[in-house]
Amino acid sequence: MIRIKNLCKHYKKGKRKNYILKDISFDLPDRGLVFIVGKSGSGKSTLLNVLGGLDSFDSGDIIIENKKMSEFKGKDFDSYRNTYLGFVFQEFNLINELNVYQNVEVALSIKGEDDENLIMTTLQKVGLYGYEKRYSNELSGGQRQRVAIARSLVKKPKVILADEPTGNLDSKTSIKILNLLKELSEKNLIIIVSHNLEDANKYADRIIEL
Ligand code: ADP
Ligand code: MG
Repeated sequence: MIRIKNLCKHYKKGKRKNYILKDISFDLPDRGLVFIVGKSGSGKSTLLNVLGGLDSFDSGDIIIENKKMSEFKGKDFDSYRNTYLGFVFQEFNLINELNVYQNVEVALSIKGEDDENLIMTTLQKVGLYGYEKRYSNELSGGQRQRVAIARSLVKKPKVILADEPTGNLDSKTSIKILNLLKELSEKNLIIIVSHNLEDANKYADRIIEL
């Protein structure tokens, strides 16, 4: 379980403090689909990056399974990011020189593992069975995002953080990706950052508005 307590973050603008996250508190469930929504510039990506240990915060805390992030050491961040979390981004971030299978394999190797069976069942889970040998430029946007989801999923994370995962997809493809994430949220906590309140209302178990 993850608890966010009185979280604050600001950027300095000259002498003024510009608060992006101001005293934010909420608890996250162990599974389900949570949407973080808000206008552009409201701090959604910042919150997700802080939650993902990719960005720092000023005060307050994030408590993960009873451990305070403020007391994390380097190796705690490594294991949190590499085994507890999976990341999915708007831009897919695939490695173009590697095929679908290899992109997923590289993600797993971060945990020091290689497991053909696991990689193939993961590809099957995201609807990419038969596409193992394809390269990024031979895939549609939706298929690329499926690879990105497989890549995060293969590490068996407890939580998947997705920043505008359908931001580069047409509406038909977006629905398919959201349905896939919804399906995965039966076993995992999926956190989606989105500016699309309509999607949130349709898919979320819980909506956090910034
Ligand atoms: P969102 O994802 O909701 O669009 P962001 O979290 O990306 O919002 O940004 C929130 C605000 O923080 C924006 O006003 C942005 O300009 C500001 N911001 C983000 N990163 C920095 C930075 N490195 N320095 C100063 N301001 C920043
Ligand atoms: Mg953003």
